[in-house]
Amino acid sequence: MPAIVTDLALVAHWIDGKEQPGTSGRTAPVFDPALGTVSKNVSLADQAEIAAAITSAKAAFPAWRDLSMAKRQQVLFSFRELLNARKGEMAEIITSEHGKVLSDALGEISRGQEVVEFACGIPHLLKGDYSENVSTGVDVYSTRQALGVVAVISPFNFPAMVPMWFFPLALAAGNSVILKPSEKDPSAAIWMAKLLQEAGLPDGVFTVLQGDKESVDGLLEHPDVKAISFVGSTPIAQYVYETGTRHGKRIQALGGAKNHMLVLPDADLDLVADSAINAGFGSAGERCMAISVIVAVEPVADVLIEKIVTRMNTLTVGDGRRSCDMGPLVTEVHRDKVASYIEIAKEDGANIVVDGRGIEVDGDPNGFWLGPTLIDALPVTSKAYTEEIFGPVLSVVRVASFEEGVDLINSGAFGNGTAIFTNDGGAARRFQNEIEVGMIGINVPIPVPVSYFSFGGWKNSLFGDTKAHGVEGVHFFTRGKAITSRWLDPSHGGINLGFPENN
Ligand code: NAD
Repeated sequence: MPAIVTDLALVAHWIDGKEQPGTSGRTAPVFDPALGTVSKNVSLADQAEIAAAITSAKAAFPAWRDLSMAKRQQVLFSFRELLNARKGEMAEIITSEHGKVLSDALGEISRGQEVVEFACGIPHLLKGDYSENVSTGVDVYSTRQALGVVAVISPFNFPAMVPMWFFPLALAAGNSVILKPSEKDPSAAIWMAKLLQEAGLPDGVFTVLQGDKESVDGLLEHPDVKAISFVGSTPIAQYVYETGTRHGKRIQALGGAKNHMLVLPDADLDLVADSAINAGFGSAGERCMAISVIVAVEPVADVLIEKIVTRMNTLTVGDGRRSCDMGPLVTEVHRDKVASYIEIAKEDGANIVVDGRGIEVDGDPNGFWLGPTLIDALPVTSKAYTEEIFGPVLSVVRVASFEEGVDLINSGAFGNGTAIFTNDGGAARRFQNEIEVGMIGINVPIPVPVSYFSFGGWKNSLFGDTKAHGVEGVHFFTRGKAITSRWLDPSHGGINLGFPENN
């Protein structure tokens, strides 16, 4: 374990429109995963800092809410332009703290930018309904209004995209936002806060609170925080959902995943092999939509494995700042946890076709490396099958039929994403109907919906009933009002204690 260095840059909070170094005395190390060293430390908020962040966000809310939609929209447009021009800067920050290769960091920013673009259409998205003359001289209309202070709590694996799933819509709708990023890669949040300020966002409307469980609990319990969007592992998502709703908040909590790819015998196996490599090992498997299990309907498994191994042999692993396919894992602790699943699979009788432990890399020997790993014949009772691994470990489970594959996928605890590879439209149609998963790919391995649809899984992959972005995102960050209005000639008055009927 590398030594904790204390005289390094301290990643600060962003409160009241400026960087505010932490005063709690508590910090966490931020690593450069390709070098295996501590590159900086991040402040971890205490109760006083949590209170200061919420007070600032609350004070900024009324003026931001009352600004015209056109002016809020202009801030979003400016942010989009600045982000598009300067996303390379943030990609470098992400790679230096997360480890993913630069092109992948740019990719996540672009997918986040899509939501900014969607949020630029907020005037259309917030248009209410109007019904004229529902009763004689009576009109009814509806409107949606901002909630107040809302919080976003994000995981380490997408330090830019996941916050952007939420804050553009929350801001556009007139809320003030507190972002609590992962303490593993906290700097992208500060970069985005500065860019929002440059785009014209008033101080206090966007806050970054650096921290750990103490900050999360502070946000969950504070009465002035009206809603929380959480993304992270399933146990914490469930905890956030239960604690937050107990405190009367609106919560959407997206959890972990174990995504399967069902391969039918009629599929194009070259396409399948390419897709399995891309979806299994991109971002070192640290994606909630990564494919981690290939369910091969026999007799395809042997041929498919051969094709996948051929491709794996061409992959280069190294420092994401250099030209390579796959970077390191985020921390040494996480790398060791992922590697332990390879041993578990072996002990449970699986065949380790390619073992990524001890791989030679184009990078510092102390980096948190683990090479692409392929496991065949993984027993579905093994913890390497039932638990989320979240690393570059792809497993193959062989089944005899489409039905057996569907039953296997539906028996799992998670329901985030899944894919079917086939040339049989009828089978694909049955799959999309019968499978108990929130996001489905048909010959598409990572079916992340575009921003105007909503992102979210089923079962243990989402607690709450509202998904991220799209129309569901707009609804999450607003609440509806229905207004019944009568402008009558005074002669139409009169006393009537009966329940209002329409006539
Ligand atoms: P994590 O659950 O460890 O952390 C997520 C957030 O919760 C962080 O901000 C962290 O500071 C906070 N946190 C951690 N422990 C806490 C505790 N005990 N109490 C309160 N807050 C706590 O997740 P991670 O390791 O950062 O991210 C990886 C996980 O996120 C994976 O399980 C992955 O599948 C999941 N994920 C899911 C989606 C999705 O859309 N469903 C997207 C991305 C990541």
